[in-house]
Amino acid sequence: MNITDLMTRLGVDESAYASGGLVVDTPIDGSEIGRVAPDSAETVEAKIAGAQDAFLAWRAVPAPRRGELVRRLGEELRAHKHDLGRLVTIESGKILSEGLGEVQEMIDICDFAVGLSRQLYGLTIASERPGHHMRETWHPLGVVGIISAFNFPVAVWSWNAALALICGDPCIWKPSEKTPLTAVAVQALFDKAAAKFGDAPEGLSQIVIGGRDAGEQLVNDRRIALLSATGSTRMGREVGPQLAGRFGRSLLELGGNNAGIVTPSADLDLALRAVCFSAAGTAGQRCTSLRRLFVHEKIYRSLVPKLKKAYASLSVGDPLEDGTLIGPLIDQGSFERMHYALDRAKAQGGQVSGGEHVGEAGYYVRPALAEMESHDGIVLAETFAPILYVFKYSDLDEAIALQNSAAQGLSSCIFTRDVLEAERFLSATGSDCGIANVNIGPSGAEIGGAFGGEKETGGGRESGSDAWKAYMRRQTQTINYSTELPLAQGVKFDV
Ligand code: NAD
Repeated sequence: MNITDLMTRLGVDESAYASGGLVVDTPIDGSEIGRVAPDSAETVEAKIAGAQDAFLAWRAVPAPRRGELVRRLGEELRAHKHDLGRLVTIESGKILSEGLGEVQEMIDICDFAVGLSRQLYGLTIASERPGHHMRETWHPLGVVGIISAFNFPVAVWSWNAALALICGDPCIWKPSEKTPLTAVAVQALFDKAAAKFGDAPEGLSQIVIGGRDAGEQLVNDRRIALLSATGSTRMGREVGPQLAGRFGRSLLELGGNNAGIVTPSADLDLALRAVCFSAAGTAGQRCTSLRRLFVHEKIYRSLVPKLKKAYASLSVGDPLEDGTLIGPLIDQGSFERMHYALDRAKAQGGQVSGGEHVGEAGYYVRPALAEMESHDGIVLAETFAPILYVFKYSDLDEAIALQNSAAQGLSSCIFTRDVLEAERFLSATGSDCGIANVNIGPSGAEIGGAFGGEKETGGGRESGSDAWKAYMRRQTQTINYSTELPLAQGVKFDV
């Protein structure tokens, strides 16, 4: 874990992480890995003002040229994938292949955004008036604020920033206070890409270091045209109304309580592997982690004991080591919340296996399974840890209804080889989530689709598909190329 070597290769000067009021510990063994200087209200103000100036210049740069900057950013990420991926693992605790995967996701969204920079298509619309035509055009929106969570410390920034930059919007990013070092490193890579690009305006992409106060300053500033906030539903409940109060645009990516259904026709070996990855992988610290599993009564006895066996064999330990599948929880608070939830599950009559503390330093846990009789109480809360609540069901409609009864609506899945069941699950009367999968778990999304969820997950969509439209303003234009002035709807107003 030589941070100095890593940071040097990533182009970060030691002064940026060797002193400062915010101490950064690695969840791997709890040791200190850096100190960064938090922003003050004054420096945040100066950064917002700089971003606003950058907007005035950047919005006039042709979109394909803006794409060239993002292409260069993608090149820097490719060249530094290994170092940045390793830093993600050290700072967030996810296993190395997931740390590298997170950087790959950044590269993928850069590629996507470069192509998109030549495809910000509008519409032409038939006018009802003679000698007129109408069109719909997309213009840059303004400064985009990005608040991110600890568990995807860099990918979430790139989902937003790659799109915002090609759309003509500068970005200000406030990473989680638990993972600021990866943000400092990403900023250094962006600066390198911008220097090679040549004429990017000052302040086009900046970071703000701090906690809730710094985030709130972005939320409450009218110059932030769009605030994209990723984190808990608690955070969204605070941020959403504040943004609405100033008519600011929000893109909320909040908590999930994701479910899976295993039907009698499912390929059980495939389902077992998918459940292990999505429920126990990343130590249950993905917004899309599988938290509730509905297993049909006919296959319950063949699947659940195997699942328990597989759980007991998962290797828990140092996420930098080859062969480790489950790294640590992010901190003590997370560990305590996991054990509170397991106690509640037991008090509700649940049969719990796993959940033990593993090792000495750091908060390592064995993933837990809780076989539950009733779908209520603690089951309805998102506990950001590897706990899978398992239920027996007899009727698919009943299982879908229980799945949908959670307050959150992020991701969902069904394991089946019956096309009627699969299509039922994907239909308008099936899963009510933003993401619905067949024969894969609920986690591990690709950048090509719009990512996000309904209900208490916040309703935002980012990344692929037409998510770019959130970062632009739509203008409806009507052009009269005649010498007459006919009014719409046949209205007469002769002067
Ligand atoms: P968190 O809500 O504690 O913090 C997230 C970010 O919000 C941090 O940067 C924090 O400083 C900031 N913040 C907190 N309160 C704020 C406020 N009042 N105003 C402005 N900023 C504020 O979340 P966390 O523990 O870092 O991450 C875990 C949570 O994030 C889980 O609930 C998980 O489901 C969710 N998450 C959602 C997605 C998604 O795309 N839907 C992705 C990743 C994580």
